[in-house]
Amino acid sequence: MSDFVETCKTPLRKSIRVNTLKISVEDFCEKMRRQQWYFTAIPWCNNGFWLQRTAEQEQSVPLGSTPEHLAGLFYIQEASSMLPPLALIGNALPETVLDMAAAPGSKTSQLSALMQNKGLLVANELAASRIKSMAAVLQRLGVTNTAISHFDGNVFGEWLPESFDAILVDAPCGGEGTIRKDPDALKNWSHESIKSISWVQKKLIDSAFKALKPGGCLVYSTCTLNHQENQAVCNHLADIYDDAVQIEPLNNLFPGADKAVTEEGYLHIWPQIFDSEGFFVARLRKSRSLGLPVPGPRKAQVPYIRVTEKQQKLINEYLFNQFGYTLPEDKSLFIKEQDFWLLPEQAAPLLSRFRFQRIGLRLATQHKSGFRLTHDAAIALGTGFTRQRLALTTAQLREYCQGRDLQVDEIPPQGEILLTWQEQPVGMAKGLGQRVKNSLPRELVRDNLPRWNGDIQGHNYLIQTM
Ligand code: SAM
Repeated sequence: MSDFVETCKTPLRKSIRVNTLKISVEDFCEKMRRQQWYFTAIPWCNNGFWLQRTAEQEQSVPLGSTPEHLAGLFYIQEASSMLPPLALIGNALPETVLDMAAAPGSKTSQLSALMQNKGLLVANELAASRIKSMAAVLQRLGVTNTAISHFDGNVFGEWLPESFDAILVDAPCGGEGTIRKDPDALKNWSHESIKSISWVQKKLIDSAFKALKPGGCLVYSTCTLNHQENQAVCNHLADIYDDAVQIEPLNNLFPGADKAVTEEGYLHIWPQIFDSEGFFVARLRKSRSLGLPVPGPRKAQVPYIRVTEKQQKLINEYLFNQFGYTLPEDKSLFIKEQDFWLLPEQAAPLLSRFRFQRIGLRLATQHKSGFRLTHDAAIALGTGFTRQRLALTTAQLREYCQGRDLQVDEIPPQGEILLTWQEQPVGMAKGLGQRVKNSLPRELVRDNLPRWNGDIQGHNYLIQTM
């Protein structure tokens, strides 16, 4: 107990997860070591690291305002919060995954990277105010396999019974494990509040279990430490569904996991064990169908209509002629109003059964004279573009992020251009004679950027037009 109290008084180590949708762990670490970033591997996550930067770096550029962060190369995530996605997916590649309480999107983006941006990942969130910031996170990280929905998680069991291969319930909770990050975390703590949140958690886990396919895997996690919100919630499920619920022990999830495993096989991470936040993770498998009724189609949403062969050909030609790019084959093209969307194929059967806020990737908008690529598409797909690329210096990237047009010495490629910074796509612009006109969406403009390392003023840049 005294270890626990002493650890809670110490500050939490900073940790990040490299976004492998954009860069390999090796390339990222090599690049950042040159800038005096020091990494300590997190034993359970190949792409997770505790990070130390110099005092000067900490003072001058917050981690979230570094150009590498803006370019989506990494995500700031607490080490123990990386456990639930690993417990859920590991090295498997499930086709359909539900993240039932998803905002702000830490685990959704980690799940997407584990799924290699393939299959369908439904990211659901009840709080409307948190959906926008989650969408922004997914956009920055180049995630394209998600469908965002905005419902109480309780609807899934009834509306989409036995539909998902894997489900994460990262439940709303009392937050006892987060005290090191937030000294006010327990301000509203009371026996009453635990009782009431435990009731919410039981309903969510029940809905998730119903929505899980037979043979599928459910991970229940919280960042709290009490029995009522953790073991009792899992036991509740076993009380209802008996032998359909099988606990999969997590003692071998990573070397050393046995130090934190309960007698049932759940991970109960006290902050002092790995010098992290507190966390609870349970992995359950559904051994048989519950024989639930399947509801009929629901009222249709704003339609996504599959493109015709002619439309598909037009957009393929546009992408190839303009950017030398060919679309991935595991996604399908749909039209919604004037826009072309790239959807995970697994989303198609759900379109008439469920309402999503946003699915997949908004690829391009159609105009009288052709198409215009979206910023989201540039970020998610731009690495594969071989034409109309313009490489920015760090100083130019800063100007671009501040919403300014770029004055250049040599004539840039004309028309739509993909801007890159250190080989990473960062957005779109338009070449107009000598000028590079900024196409960064207004909501992404950052006026308050700090000075960056390597922020040398000047307009020298490389043009790639091959
Ligand atoms: N999984 C997220 C991540 O890793 O970034 C953190 C999730 S946080 C612990 C719990 C989330 O559940 C909150 O965003 C909260 O708004 C949401 N929530 C609360 N009640 C819910 C419900 N009934 N259905 C779905 N989401 C709910």
